[in-house]
Amino acid sequence: MTLAVDSELHELVHAGRVVVLSGAGLSTESGIPDYRGPSGASRRHAPMTYQAFVGSPEARHRYWARSYLGWRQIARARPNAGHRAVTALQDRGLLDGIITQNVDGLHQAAGARDVIELHGGLDLVVCLSCGLRETRTSIDERLRAANAGFVAAFAHINPDGDVDLSDEQLDGFVPVGCRYCSSDLVKPDVVFFGENVPRPRVDACYSLVEAAAALLVLGSSLTVMSGYRFVLRADKLGIPVGIVTLGPTRGDAKAGVRLDAPLGTVLPELARAVGAVASR
Ligand SMILES: [Zn+2]
Repeated sequence: MTLAVDSELHELVHAGRVVVLSGAGLSTESGIPDYRGPSGASRRHAPMTYQAFVGSPEARHRYWARSYLGWRQIARARPNAGHRAVTALQDRGLLDGIITQNVDGLHQAAGARDVIELHGGLDLVVCLSCGLRETRTSIDERLRAANAGFVAAFAHINPDGDVDLSDEQLDGFVPVGCRYCSSDLVKPDVVFFGENVPRPRVDACYSLVEAAAALLVLGSSLTVMSGYRFVLRADKLGIPVGIVTLGPTRGDAKAGVRLDAPLGTVLPELARAVGAVASR
C-alpha cells in the first residue's frame, strides 16, 4: 500500500535547496531512544552538565562508567529507512545541507555527506587539558583492557550513550586518562548541557539556513534553543519551515507544513515521490 505523501511537504522538498535539521526522533527507529519525544521514557537521572563533568573527578568516573556500557548500544545502532531517505534526497540534489542535533553518526553511516553535527559526535573524545583528540574506538579498546573484570547489568540506555548504574556497580569501573598527557579530563567531543555550541559551527548553520529555500525539521521537538534558533531565523526571513516529528514541537506555530507521523514511513515515501530512490 502506498501512502499519499502530504502534497505541501512534497512541494516544499521537490523545489529543492532544502536544509534539513534532524533530531533524536530520526534515530528512535534505530534503537536509540528519544528521551524528549513521545516514545521515550524520561531518563531516570538528569543529564550531566559540563560544569559537573569538569568540576568533579567523581562525576567523570560516573559518566565514563555509564558511557562505557552505553557505547555498546550506540556502536551497534544502524541507520534506518529515514536516514537512508535523507541521503537519497541529498543524492538527488534537493538538499543544500544537513544539520543534525544527533551525536550518533547515523546520517553519515547512511552515506550522507557534509553533515554538520551541531552537538558534536560520539565517535571522538577530546582531552580538555592538552587538546588531543582520540577516536572513541581507540579509547574504548583501552577501557576494555582496563576493565576486563567489570560486569554490570544495565537496562536503560539514553541517547547520549550513558546508562543507569548503582553506586556499587560504579565502584568497579576503572577510567583511563589521556593517551598523551594522562589527564583524566577526557570528554566525548559532544556539547554537554550547560555548554555552548562552538560559534563557528553555529555561524555555518545560520549561513546554510539563510541561503535555503526551505528548512525541514525531522524528528526534533525543538526543545533546546541550539536547534530552535534556526527555525526562528528562517521564520524571520520568510523562509518556509516544514516539520515532520511525532508529538508537539516548540516550532509548530512557525511551520507552514506540519506532519505528526513516523519518519521511517514518511521519508521513504517522500523520497520516492520526488524521484529520489534510496540505494543504501
Ligand atoms: Zn591530554
